[in-house]
Amino acid sequence: MKEKNFGDRNDRGNYVPKKSVGYPPVFVWPLAPIKALKWVFSIPGYFLPWNLFYVGIGLFSWFVLSPPLEDYANLTIFNFLIVFLKNSGLVLIFYGAFHYRLYIQRAQDIDFKYNPRWPTEKSKQFLFNSQTKDNIFLTFCSGVLIWTCFEIFILWFAAGGYLKLISLDESMVYFISMIFLIHFWRDLHFYLIHRLIHYEPLYKLAHKTHHRNVNPGPWSGLAMHPIEHVFYFSCALLYLFIPFHPAFIIVTLVHAGLSPAPGHTGFERIKTNEQTSFDVDSYAHYLHHKYFECNYADGILPLDRWFGTLHDGSEESFNKMRAKLIKKNQEKCLDKT
Ligand SMILES: [Zn+2]
Ligand SMILES: [Zn+2]
Repeated sequence: MKEKNFGDRNDRGNYVPKKSVGYPPVFVWPLAPIKALKWVFSIPGYFLPWNLFYVGIGLFSWFVLSPPLEDYANLTIFNFLIVFLKNSGLVLIFYGAFHYRLYIQRAQDIDFKYNPRWPTEKSKQFLFNSQTKDNIFLTFCSGVLIWTCFEIFILWFAAGGYLKLISLDESMVYFISMIFLIHFWRDLHFYLIHRLIHYEPLYKLAHKTHHRNVNPGPWSGLAMHPIEHVFYFSCALLYLFIPFHPAFIIVTLVHAGLSPAPGHTGFERIKTNEQTSFDVDSYAHYLHHKYFECNYADGILPLDRWFGTLHDGSEESFNKMRAKLIKKNQEKCLDKT
């Protein structure tokens, strides 16, 4: 499986995929119902591989690993630790697997790696002078901690009888529909908060921490400033307003907590052996880390196309982005004079 079958390296050695950033044939005009339906059930498609994976891990996390709902009514440090360790374990296994394979084993060297350089381990802008160690620190000490606080806060509220809960027996159709529609909510919520934290004061205060990862690796995914983590995991607040099953909160937070890993691998494809590889769909977000003001969304809703912020990887998009950056730098220079 050679990378040149899927893209080329430019004169700086950066890998540029041949495919352009696109969306599934769902939100298109004229409508294409057959194509849309085919996409829903194909691989990759709506369910497989990622959506079903996050739903499965979320359900497992609630029904097998979490304390019963009643325990959340009288919170103890012990229960808090159980939930924190549960979420930390999921993150450690998932992010660790990508990092171990691609950055420790370097199992495919720089094949399919967008940026030919490895993350910096000698830079004063990162804690411990290491991009990876800084990212891991932010992931656990802020990311997983704030994720756990949201999870416990809403479940505590629900256990106290303040929120409308549904039961599996009475609302099976609602349960199954919602569990698979959470993906849409996450897409919309992420786009909105991402636009918001690119507002200059918020960017300087918080989001620039994440954007220090110009050359991202899996641990860059949840490497955010605590303020950004609060915005990011606030997707769980939806359940203050609609009837829900506790599993919805866990699936939503598992989706938010785990999905940044494949999107930040820094690789276009992951090789499973010399003949086969799979696409991790990370190019759109890699371009966001490189050019900042494009591809704010990271999912299946074509929000960047609707709002004119799509960088699809084409020559036209690159030129548009360069012109935008030059204009911005000129304006900054004018401001200073
Ligand atoms: Zn990112
Ligand atoms: Zn950003």
